[in-house]
Amino acid sequence: MPITAATRLIALLGDPVDHSLSPRMQNAAFRAAGLDGVYLALRCDARTLPELLRAIATAGGAGNVTVPHKRLAATVVDRTTRQVDATGACNTFWTEGGEIHGDNTDVTGFREAVRALIGAPAGARALILGAGGAARAAVAALIEARADTVHLLNRTPARAAGIRDQLDPAGRRVGLVRPDRLDREGYDLVVNATPLGLDPGDPLPLDLDRVARAGAVLDLVYSAERVTAWVAEARRSGLPAADGTAMLLHQGMAAFERWWQQPAPGDVMSEALTSARPV
Ligand code: NAP
Repeated sequence: MPITAATRLIALLGDPVDHSLSPRMQNAAFRAAGLDGVYLALRCDARTLPELLRAIATAGGAGNVTVPHKRLAATVVDRTTRQVDATGACNTFWTEGGEIHGDNTDVTGFREAVRALIGAPAGARALILGAGGAARAAVAALIEARADTVHLLNRTPARAAGIRDQLDPAGRRVGLVRPDRLDREGYDLVVNATPLGLDPGDPLPLDLDRVARAGAVLDLVYSAERVTAWVAEARRSGLPAADGTAMLLHQGMAAFERWWQQPAPGDVMSEALTSARPV
């Protein structure tokens, strides 16, 4: 479809944005669905983000927000979903009824990636490595899905305590685990929500032999070139394991549905992501 005066701008706002696979995934989806829209990545700093987001939305556009602006974006939109309120972060915006709405589809993306890997996590025990925005989305999704226990392990324990105190103030499901206690703990799911694995020279986020039992491994890190070293290691040990591609796909599908009010072409989007990876 040619770009015309009617073409709708859907923008990714963040810094950096040049590594993102979202333009490839979303433009393939727009083409397949016959939608007159174009998805562009726009690098911006915190000073310009509020104006840029509001201007795009007010002009009939919509978009995604990525690092480091997801928390700032949550304060810029007029209306927030429960997932934004729980995580304090917004990664998707659009206009409806004259107001700018914001959602955090990372929560949906994580939930669907877990479902594909282990099924519904109700009653499951999970260990999350990291305590940044991705960990927060993971904890919110696991609480929503009624996981039994969510343990957090982070380089800076105070940040993990912050997530527990905000998302589960009564401490019924979410807790911190000490590294020297891992050998006493068994988990149905172990999640990497740190950036370890982005660089090929990174150490593994966790030596899986350190936990008493790991049922499955979900690495939120993904790369266009290869499966992560941690996923490869888990698979060598016979564990079901997936990288962050499924979360990326499902957060993108949920965003598409907010922008266009119609189901996302998941097969096309998945193919766009996997075809970015050399065989
Ligand atoms: P973030 O807010 O910057 O948080 C990063 C977390 O990782 C922090 O808890 C940090 O610990 C920890 N960390 C950083 N470097 C570390 C190191 N060398 N050793 C141990 N811990 C380290 O980042 P985020 O937004 O949560 O994203 C984390 C990763 O998740 C990203 O790099 C990205 O690859 C992935 N992600 C994937 C998707 C997807 O769709 N697949 C979506 C979002 C994020 P401190 O608290 O001690 O600093």
